[in-house]
Amino acid sequence: MTMTTTEARALPAARQHGKIGDEILRVENLKVHFPVTQGVFIKRQVGSVKAVDGVSFTLRRGETLGLVGESGCGKSTTGLAIIKMLAASGGRIAFDGDDFATFSKAQEKNFRRSVQMVYQDPFGSLNPRMKVCDIIGEPLEVHGMANDREHYRARIAELLQMVGLLPYMADRYPHEFSGGQRQRIGIARALAVEPSLIVCDEPVSALDVSIQAQVVNVFMELQRRLGLTYIFIAHDLAVVRHISDRIAVMYLGRIVEIASRDALYANPRHPYTKALLSAVPVASVEAEAKRQRIVLKGEVPSPLNPPSGCRFHPRCAQATQRCRVEDPVLRERGDGQMVACHLEGLEG
Ligand code: SF4
Repeated sequence: MTMTTTEARALPAARQHGKIGDEILRVENLKVHFPVTQGVFIKRQVGSVKAVDGVSFTLRRGETLGLVGESGCGKSTTGLAIIKMLAASGGRIAFDGDDFATFSKAQEKNFRRSVQMVYQDPFGSLNPRMKVCDIIGEPLEVHGMANDREHYRARIAELLQMVGLLPYMADRYPHEFSGGQRQRIGIARALAVEPSLIVCDEPVSALDVSIQAQVVNVFMELQRRLGLTYIFIAHDLAVVRHISDRIAVMYLGRIVEIASRDALYANPRHPYTKALLSAVPVASVEAEAKRQRIVLKGEVPSPLNPPSGCRFHPRCAQATQRCRVEDPVLRERGDGQMVACHLEGLEG
């Protein structure tokens, strides 16, 4: 297989760092709160929706962090804050060692190119009136990376091939493609400007199960070839298992457990992670027969008025009086596994 120009540029960095390298992203105590107002003529703030409320993690170059949780847990909002499409209400984010708050114009420009997003809906995220070549090429023009028409067309053809499509498809419109192919176009568009970090917001959730694995494999192959770093957001632990190096489980605006993929699947420690994992079917017939589903009671509470103490306590079968009043801190429990829970014996 011949090496593309993008790969040639990415390989030295990937070789230097191995698969997983130095820190690329640091998120510290990130908060994204949305004010809730009342009144028709005079607006008065009566509260705030705490969509993300104190999220911290780091990400290393070449790594994939799975961000998992039920709808409304704040995982997509976290992703949008990381790509600067939503302003943080508090906390700190640093990319490549540079704090968002102190970005120079040059750092801002570099960030806008280096961090891209792949969206959930491959039907709604592509402009139906634009040809594929213009959809993929738009970021090249925005970032001044399309020198001349010949170079531009060659680059579009290269990007299409990188995601498993064919160069002649460049002159077609989105409606001429299947869901999986449209998501490949979305990935090619994100890749156009040679990013180092891609935030993938539920990129396979809208696809048929049979297509999901193919698209996940495209992400993995591109990571292997280009040394990309991913934040892979999903509502279901089965989807992130294949692709993630580490997984963070979110509940009501907070991370409740973060661990390597293998540790999390072999030994989930937080009661919420256990419940999520119990819903994932397993391949072996014997293990599947033994699988005991933990059904959570009630709905996820409103982030406008989260429960006191541990936010999970109204749904937790092991909750104690302490859980109702004291907010558990996310702390290390051995082997790099971090858990926010008051239960005894969580240490490895
Ligand atoms: Fe359950 Fe208490 Fe642990 Fe929260 S702190 S998950 S309520 S046991």
